[in-house]
Parts: sequence; C-alpha cells; structure tokens
Amino acid sequence: HTTDVAVLGAGPAGLVLGNILVDRGIDCVVLERAEPAQVRTRARAGFLAPGTVRTLERHGLADGLHRRGQPHGVCEFRTGDGRFRLDYGGLGQRERHTVYPQQDLVSDLLTRFLERGGQVRFGTEAEAVHDADSGRPEVAAREADGRPLRWRARYVAGCDGRHGAARRSLPAGTVRHHRDHGVTWLGLLAEAPPSLDAVGYAVHERGFAGHMARTSEITRYYLQCERGTRAESWSEERIWDELELRMRAREYGPLRRGRVVQQAVVDLESDVLEPLRHGALFLVGDAAGLISPSAAKGANLAVLGAATLADALTDDLVRGDPSGLDAYSARCLTHIWRAQEFSHWMIGLLHGPSGADGESLFHNSLRRSRLTSLRTSRSQQDWFAEHYVGI
Ligand code: FAD
Repeated sequence: HTTDVAVLGAGPAGLVLGNILVDRGIDCVVLERAEPAQVRTRARAGFLAPGTVRTLERHGLADGLHRRGQPHGVCEFRTGDGRFRLDYGGLGQRERHTVYPQQDLVSDLLTRFLERGGQVRFGTEAEAVHDADSGRPEVAAREADGRPLRWRARYVAGCDGRHGAARRSLPAGTVRHHRDHGVTWLGLLAEAPPSLDAVGYAVHERGFAGHMARTSEITRYYLQCERGTRAESWSEERIWDELELRMRAREYGPLRRGRVVQQAVVDLESDVLEPLRHGALFLVGDAAGLISPSAAKGANLAVLGAATLADALTDDLVRGDPSGLDAYSARCLTHIWRAQEFSHWMIGLLHGPSGADGESLFHNSLRRSRLTSLRTSRSQQDWFAEHYVGI
C-alpha cells in the first residue's frame, strides 16, 4: 500500500492530525492496534486548555465539546493549615478549562474522520518504521489475524504513545530526557457526581489526594500510594475512607460516594525525546514526550503537536515548502518543556518527599511556603493561572 502520510495510532494526536490532513485533501491512513469500541471508551484525561479548544474549533472538531463540555475555572487546596480556593478563570489570562472526557473527544474525532472519508485500519499493529532517512519510509504492520502489512509513505507520524512502534524505530543516539518523580498515584474513576465545584487538591501527611470532575455522573479521584502497590489491593471501602480522610471531609463536607469503575496505578514519570524528527518520521503526543498527569497537560500537548505537524505537512505536500517540517521539532519542544516545567512544579507542590526525616522536614516547610505564596500573593496566583490553563 502507499499513502502520503501514514499515521500510527488513533488517539487524540493521530485523529486530530488525520482530520486536518483529510480535510485538506491530503492522502493519509491511520493504523490503530485496538478495535473501535476500545478506542472510543478509554477513559483518561478530561481537562482541555482554551488553546486546545481553539485549535479544535479552527478545524471544525469542537461541536461535541461545545454541546457537552463544562467550563471550569476554580481549584481548591486543602491542607493542614486550612483550605483556600483559587478562581483561576478570573486570574492570569482569565481563561478556563473545558471539562470533556478524553474518550468523548476521541469518539467525536473518530466519527468526524470517518465522515470526512478518512481511513482507519483497526486491529493493525505497527511493528517498525523502516528507511525513515530514505525519503520513502515504510511501516511494517500486522493485522489482528497475524497477516503482515506494509505501507510506503512520504511521511510517517508516530502518534502511537509511549510504547509504540515509532519510539522503537528511532535511530541510536536519540536523546531521551527521563525523570522518575518517585511518586505513585492510584487513579480512580467513580460512578459518582463530583463532590466539589472545583478541582480539589488535598495535601496531607498520609499523601496527596485529588478530585477532578468529569461529568455530572463520573468523577476522577487520585490517591498517592506506595510505589509497587497493586491497584486491586485497595478495596472500595478503603479507597473512600482514605479519600475522605485526606480531603478532610469531616471539616469540609462528605464526598459523594459511588461505585469505583476503574482503578489503575500510575507512576509519575516524565520523558522528552529530542529531536522529534528523524528524516521522514515525526513524533507527536505521548510518543514525543510523556508528562506526569499532575498538571493535566498530556492530551493538550497531543492536540497542539498534531495541529502543528498538520500545518507543516500541508505546507510541504501542497505548497512544496518544507520549512515548517524543519522547524517542527524545535517548535514543539518549546511547548513541551514549558508544560514539563509547570507539571514538575505541581508535583513539588502536592507531594511530600521520600527519604530521611531531616530532608522531609525541610521539603515540607518549602512546600508549605509555596502554598502560602499561592494563597496570599496575587502575582503568584496570576502566574499559576496562566500556566495551569496554558499550553
Ligand atoms: P494515546 O492516547 O496513548 O493514543 C495512542 C494510540 O496508539 C492508542 O489508540 C493505541 O492503541 C495506539 N497504538 C499504540 N501502539 C500502537 C502500535 N504499535 N500500532 C498501532 N497503534 C498503536 N492529559 C491531560 O491533558 N489531562 C488530563 O487530565 C490527563 N489525565 C490523565 C489520566 C490518566 C490516568 C492517564 C493515563 C493519562 C492522562 N492524561 C491527561 C494524559 C493523556 O491521556 C495522554 O497524554 C494522551 O492520551 C496522549 O494522546 P496520544 O494520542 O499521544 O496517545
């Protein structure tokens, strides 16, 4: 088979890229390992930055999120020193998030892509990208029944996440900046209405707890846990009791309990690959860099990177101008590092250290001071708001 652009992966990155290319009449194919039902139902992110929403609007991809997404602009911090709220939608650039579950966004993007005449090969796992330096790269893939498949393309977009074929196909010498933050979260999805009208961040001596609305019936919670914890080892009762304790429900009101429908352990890690281009192979989204979920940036970076690559590919394939492709890596890395920096700052704000007692006391005092600045300093609040919703 041949195409102009072979896109690996039908997540937010691959489907935004595919939609824009097809809309501009550029031939492309999306190869996706999973089946459609799985692609449409994987619950992950939910907070879309205003820049992400504008990008989706510009490409006619925002109808669903405008219909069903909810504006969101407040977070609440709960600590041993009390609680405070930040109306971040009225601070900084005065912008708010749109809360829209990632699986709904992906489902909208897939529907739109198919309506636009886009082609997705589901159940097709990319195995390797060959000849990326040749100007005519080839993707070796395998269909669900084991049949091998080969696609020749002008360009390959690696949108297949952190464990995908694009990353495996990078030449030796690619730099991978990696950081394990040493913190682990139990990520939970509960069939329960949100308990707060804000994102809740609880800083507690037993560890961090977080609350993030998804829809009027579904809420995401996070509980910091020991590294190496098995997700199933936490019973539903223990989860809710621990959430109530760390979120200080006795002082600030009970949580609205419900069935826990997803529980998964997430080690907070970051990595960034550099460069994001290797000949005709480009990395986008989680394939380009993994960001810890502490600041809710991953899906937003995926959309931004995909739109940037789509413009660069259009310039090259339609107008014969390769300058956008040449600039792609540097342009995306600027956004990625800004998001990494804020995400790292958030990790320091929300978690206690592991290690010796003296170090813990020092770190805890710094963290308290950081929270005090956030509670009392208007310029710190503006800075927070700008980075929290920015991308
Ligand atoms: P993915 O969504 O991972 O899509 C990659 C696609 O490629 C998948 O469909 C996969 O099946 C397919 N694939 C993989 N390998 C192959 C292969 N070899 N061949 C073919 N197909 C392949 N981000 C936020 O912005 N806000 C949040 O609030 C947030 N919360 C999160 C909570 C959790 C628990 C997790 C896990 C993540 C969260 N994220 C959040 C991160 C966000 O979900 C990711 O950054 C985002 O999904 C990245 O999109 P992507 O398209 O790059 O990759």
